[in-house]
Amino acid sequence: MAINQDLFHYPEAAKELFIRTEDITFRDGTRVSAEEIWEFLTKEAPVRFPHAFDNGRYNRNRISGDIALPYSLKDEYLSLTFNDRMLKAKQKGIPVAFVQGGQCVDPYYAAGAIALRPASVNQWAACQREGVTFTQAQVLREDDKERASQSISFEVCNTAGYEYIQEGSLPVDMIAPYSCLRCSDVSYSLEAHRHGKRQDVKLFLGDFPMADQKNKEWAVEYFAENIKRLIRSIDELTGRETTEEDLRKEIILHNEGRRLSREIAELWWAPDTPPTNGKDRRAILQMGGMEVHGDPEASLCVLREGKRFIEERVRKGVKGHGLIDKPARIFLCGSCVFPSDYRIEEGGGVIVGTDNHWSNISTLVEETGDPYYNLAKATLSYPYEQNVYERAKWTAEQIRKSRADGVLFMYNWGCNTQSAMARMLCDEIKKLVNVPTLIIEHEFQASQSEQLLNRVSAFVEML
Ligand code: SF4
Repeated sequence: MAINQDLFHYPEAAKELFIRTEDITFRDGTRVSAEEIWEFLTKEAPVRFPHAFDNGRYNRNRISGDIALPYSLKDEYLSLTFNDRMLKAKQKGIPVAFVQGGQCVDPYYAAGAIALRPASVNQWAACQREGVTFTQAQVLREDDKERASQSISFEVCNTAGYEYIQEGSLPVDMIAPYSCLRCSDVSYSLEAHRHGKRQDVKLFLGDFPMADQKNKEWAVEYFAENIKRLIRSIDELTGRETTEEDLRKEIILHNEGRRLSREIAELWWAPDTPPTNGKDRRAILQMGGMEVHGDPEASLCVLREGKRFIEERVRKGVKGHGLIDKPARIFLCGSCVFPSDYRIEEGGGVIVGTDNHWSNISTLVEETGDPYYNLAKATLSYPYEQNVYERAKWTAEQIRKSRADGVLFMYNWGCNTQSAMARMLCDEIKKLVNVPTLIIEHEFQASQSEQLLNRVSAFVEML
């Protein structure tokens, strides 16, 4: 049966501006020019990855269409070359470690590994399937998730790429998350990997002291020891010895990404009508976590250039593609969730911030002194990992800074900590900033149901 797809095409008229922009330089020192990126996005990628170019309203990841925003195209390039880039790295003997979201990845990169969280692992797997439509990609993905749920537990949320790793389609070398508060999947997944078919996958758990430990000296020192253990464990894979200086250099590099993200967020929040749409806000800010594309240097290149474009747009009063004037501003809470930015924007709203990931992206690490201690101190202080009152205070501050009119808390089925916290956190936020809140449980489907989107749309209308 032929399936008609409405596919996005980058218009030729956008080429001239784009090819004058900067190259992307990768961690291995290689570069790709803007002209090569343009050729890839307009010729090769639409044939290999038609699902990504689907322009239908159920594709919440569809291409932004802001063709005058070069970093948006570069973000798509990095996403769609995930499999190509990871296979190249693997051929060079670079180990890949699976981590969970919401933690910084400085120590993994200092030790010479690539750290990937579930979203990146899923993107890598998606890029292995070439020539499929959006609908075919969705069905195949649901099948994968079902197989993994049956292997792990019906209680898990998104299964975190377990199936791809255990079935051997993704050559991940190490499962190495921290046992942080935000995520109940870590324990399910690590335990399942322990009993999985692939006994060659190395297992590591960073023991994260939970619940208000950040001011306790023993907890910082204990977690610093865990970071040392992690690095030694990666060294066993690479055969090299990572030094304190390697870690210090990596912290300085990642701090640049974190600082840029903080500066970009301040710029983006200032105008009543934001300078980009929600998809492009998410794309640029998550690059500050330096893990989304599996290459910190590439992310930094795009961040540096992206900041200049956002500055210029704010100065000239350019509004984001597809936004109405003065949209209703929504702050999104919860792990590993995002509603369709496009559907929110159709209704006159825009997502202006998130707590998940922003918690670690916006936390700088001290650059002088013992790098293990500094990293442990910063990691234990992530606002998202604190008790509900402290987390609410920090979230309220972000809501004020982003000038949000309302809060949407979403959690995935199986996300046990976030589902338990949602009501309490929203109640505290209301006491602190007095904004309307909506809590929705999210089914794990990339396309999201009409029912879910209707509820979000009604909230936007109310705001
Ligand atoms: S949705 Fe929740 S349980 Fe699942 S990976 Fe994200 S944080 Fe962990």
